[in-house]
Amino acid sequence: MKMTIDPSVRMNNANRSAKSATPKDSRATAIRRQYGMTQICLQTDGCRKGMAGSCVFCNYPCGRLPSKDDVPSIMDEALSMVESEDRSILIGSSGSLLDPLEVPEDILRKVLECIEGTDCGKVLVETRLDTVDEQSLRLLQECLPGKKIEIEFGLESSNQDVLKYCLNKDVDLRTIDKQIELIHSFGFTTSANVIIGTPLLGTEEQIRDAASTIGWAMDHGADSTVLFPVNVRRHTLLESMLHKGIYAPINHILVPLALSGLDDRALATVSLSWADPNQIDDDCIIARPSDDGCPGIYEFYNSFMAADDPADRRGLISSILAESAIPIMHSAPKGSLMERAERACDLLGIRMNEDNLPLP
Ligand code: SF4
Repeated sequence: MKMTIDPSVRMNNANRSAKSATPKDSRATAIRRQYGMTQICLQTDGCRKGMAGSCVFCNYPCGRLPSKDDVPSIMDEALSMVESEDRSILIGSSGSLLDPLEVPEDILRKVLECIEGTDCGKVLVETRLDTVDEQSLRLLQECLPGKKIEIEFGLESSNQDVLKYCLNKDVDLRTIDKQIELIHSFGFTTSANVIIGTPLLGTEEQIRDAASTIGWAMDHGADSTVLFPVNVRRHTLLESMLHKGIYAPINHILVPLALSGLDDRALATVSLSWADPNQIDDDCIIARPSDDGCPGIYEFYNSFMAADDPADRRGLISSILAESAIPIMHSAPKGSLMERAERACDLLGIRMNEDNLPLP
């Protein structure tokens, strides 16, 4: 009898080999500034999940983990970019800052001590939720006694099939409530990252998935969310999907369309994160969402982030939707998400034998 290989295994394999071709970044950190926040990404050897093939859309820059002795000078240089009006620092790595196999505890401790010495009142720590435990939270508490701490984690979707077959992301949604409870028990807050522009979904499915994921995250204890329109990054399976015509970048207008479906609580606490082509110099991005028909979208993003009252935010959403052309909504590909993933693997020529080994 012929064995069929789960398409998520095939995707994982192809994504792993795409990511393995990523050149190393020579910088020690990557820095970005947005809305009173400096984001510092400490370069490491890479995300362990990503290197194993997870997450078809993600490919953070990675380089070489610094030695403990090099951390103070690297962090001094990174922290010199923090402006006096910055209220918070987001510290992440090429994957997960709290993964001890990626960032050993002695190095993490040094990084945190450098941040404790700054005037910023709030520190956001970007990490996978499965790297959060009592030990890692206690370390944050010890090293950052004067700061408010927020754990920012990648949720992406609240649909387990979307996670498995569209994103190839290994998140068990059943574990999330408990992890969030643990974080809250330390007095820290949480923020869930959500994406819009998921492959293998039709346009309306993408809008619905983003809006319902934001609502789901709030219902399951997250204090806030961040919505990311997906960019296509080099050396990912998403890049191969783009070249084969299986994926097209979304139009930015999908963001306000998704936001328009949120209740007041979710609308008041959602942030947006996008790669503004005029500000972001990231040559790993090979395709971005389009602003065709909505040239005012970047102004909308800035105004939305500056407003925190849900009524003001709703007004901004109504205006951008009224002044923009709503693009054609691509219908959903046929079949279940597993069938769609299977077809995509066939079109991409991802072949494996029954022992899960790739075939040429
Ligand atoms: S999304 Fe997170 S878990 Fe997935 S590859 Fe990127 S850093 Fe790793």
